[in-house]
Amino acid sequence: MAECIFCKIVAGEIPAVKVYEDELVFAFLDIGPINPGHVLVIPKEHHESSATIPEATAGRMFRVGARIGTALRRALDYEAFNLHLADGTAAGQVVMHAHLHVVPRGVEDGFHWNWRQLRYADGECAEIAKKIIARLDMTGKSR
Ligand code: 5GP
Ligand code: ZN
Repeated sequence: MAECIFCKIVAGEIPAVKVYEDELVFAFLDIGPINPGHVLVIPKEHHESSATIPEATAGRMFRVGARIGTALRRALDYEAFNLHLADGTAAGQVVMHAHLHVVPRGVEDGFHWNWRQLRYADGECAEIAKKIIARLDMTGKSR
């Protein structure tokens, strides 16, 4: 994708601080980290949505993300890490080339996910699961 900033990073057309690369994925430091060492793992091929990434590449992204998370613990003395992926603008995706965030975490790092826990009405759970199952497409052809 000619105008995609992350495709340009993969092509070496704009600079980034790389931490890992193989034939499928590319990993580099996020320019605006939640904590120092925050890494983005991206498919080399352009995909806007995580849903269209081929299984081998998607699996590699997760594996590389988890290994980088472990490296962050060992190298920078973090205690933990979050893997985060925003798929779609409403979910907070700003760069429209799919990317997995590896966010290093410490107990006193002052960062909190703004998480909430709603409650289901009686029977609502089963209804929702039925709808999901009816539309689940494991071929990966639909977004
Ligand atoms: P999103 O909100 O789409 O999940 O995250 C996009 C991330 O990309 C942000 O955390 C942002 O700091 C990072 N980012 C945006 N532009 C660049 C860039 O040119 N270089 C690097 N290294 N990171 C970028
Ligand atoms: Zn791209």
